[in-house]
Amino acid sequence: MSKNFDVVVIGAGPGGYVAAIRAAQLGFTVACIDEWKNEKGGPAPGGTCTNVGCIPSKAMLQSSENYDHAGHAFADHGIEVKGLSLNVKKMVARKDSVVKQNNDGILYLFKKNKVTFFHGRGSFVKAADGGHEIKIAGATEENIFAKHVVVATGSNPRALPGAAFDEKLILSNTGALAITDVPKRLGVIGAGVIGLEMGSVWRRLGSEVTVLEALPAFLGAVDDAVAKEAFKQFTKQGLAISLGVQIGAITAGKNDVTVNYVDDKGAAQKAVFDKLIVSIGRVPNTIGLNAEAVGLKLDERGFIAVDADCKTSLPNVWAVGDVVRGPMLAHKSEEEGVAVAERIAGQHGHVNFNTIPWVIYTSPEIAWVGKTEQQLKAEKIAYKSGSFPFLANGRARALGDTTGFVKFLADAKTDEILGVHIIGAMASELISEAVVAMEFRASSEDIARICHAHPSLSEAVKEAALAVDGRALNF
Ligand SMILES: Cc1cc2nc3c(=O)[nH]c(=O)nc-3n(C[C@H](O)[C@H](O)[C@H](O)COP(=O)(O)OP(=O)(O)OC[C@H]3O[C@@H](n4cnc5c(N)ncnc54)[C@H](O)[C@@H]3O)c2cc1C
Repeated sequence: MSKNFDVVVIGAGPGGYVAAIRAAQLGFTVACIDEWKNEKGGPAPGGTCTNVGCIPSKAMLQSSENYDHAGHAFADHGIEVKGLSLNVKKMVARKDSVVKQNNDGILYLFKKNKVTFFHGRGSFVKAADGGHEIKIAGATEENIFAKHVVVATGSNPRALPGAAFDEKLILSNTGALAITDVPKRLGVIGAGVIGLEMGSVWRRLGSEVTVLEALPAFLGAVDDAVAKEAFKQFTKQGLAISLGVQIGAITAGKNDVTVNYVDDKGAAQKAVFDKLIVSIGRVPNTIGLNAEAVGLKLDERGFIAVDADCKTSLPNVWAVGDVVRGPMLAHKSEEEGVAVAERIAGQHGHVNFNTIPWVIYTSPEIAWVGKTEQQLKAEKIAYKSGSFPFLANGRARALGDTTGFVKFLADAKTDEILGVHIIGAMASELISEAVVAMEFRASSEDIARICHAHPSLSEAVKEAALAVDGRALNF
């Protein structure tokens, strides 16, 4: 065994690469191992998020929205577009170059922070000298020693039984982000964040999109008022969404896929699609870690078992991100990565699960933090609420996008903000104010008394806070 490190991180997704950088900032010798390959076989750090998740999906959402605006919204602004055409291959190539910029950025950050990067698969060999021996296999082949190990191996898409991903007709997120010709009929199984974002991309580019969802409620984790508005907007845009369906046999033909299902009224249905995206959730990725060899415990759902501090069943072995319990979000992974590095250094790492924001990057965007109204009711917490529509916001009118609203939920007695829910343009950016406010345990009155720039969409946040006390000024 040649090299010794204070900290070895397995996985360079948002959880892993950020943990490695923070550990290096704290003065440790750090290595990070990642096996992701680009199309030339070279390293592509950044994990699911950078390669087939957050970043490429947002690149495709932006490109498809630009196309949609050019075709539909520009005319309202007096801009006439003639001969509008679509080059999907170029759009996908642009997405790929955005991904590459992010891969390269992480390799640069590793160099800058003196993190040693190994391209290959990392697996446990055995406990040794109060730490662990780790084997690297792939482009690099060697064994190294780690005093502390941070496992950040992420997650993989869940397939439907009997319908394995071939990434040509039956697609996971990976195939969905690499389609180069607009499918005429696109099926999406699963009306969650990924299904709705991918469905929106291809609907804007011209596909007829059918979304099939097993649950009877649309976006059950989202505040009811927001989910209702989202359903209205998405169906108006042309997404055909069927709820409460039971998926049966899926058969891939030569050029199409047939999905048999039972609809919410109990009637047998059959739909034929040119491509089918299956987005029914993700499973933790512990393949190839050789966790059993060292006795690293998994929980009953296959996640690495950790306590509140991300400590595993083994001393000096930590796990963060999608491979452990909690929301599968890049920023949750990053927060855990930073907190673990700080705990290794004897500091007090901090992750507040109550203030993790959620975003769906559809149009309108949906973003929220804290409790929904239905959760407050179920938990019998007395609350007040206030809402403000973007229809009454000057900046939204100038933008030409007045869809949606901001909704505040505050404690009935103390006025502490318990949840903020936004559906509308730039909700992903607007939610940050609510996150900061909730982290500081602010009241709705605090937001209502803060000066917000005019004209800005953020004024709708202030107005919704004012509305909690029945004193919105512009509605
Ligand atoms: C289409 C899509 C869109 C998404 N959009 C968003 C979004 O907008 N916002 C958001 O917050 N989240 C989004 N997510 C979720 C987000 O991508 C994940 O929550 C995040 O990537 C998890 O980070 P991670 O570091 O835990 O794992 P990952 O990003 O999965 O990274 C794990 C890394 O570990 C590597 N690895 C695994 N095993 C080994 C091993 N044994 N040895 C070496 N390397 C190994 C993998 O190759 C990978 O590079 C999206 C996901 C998808 C699929």
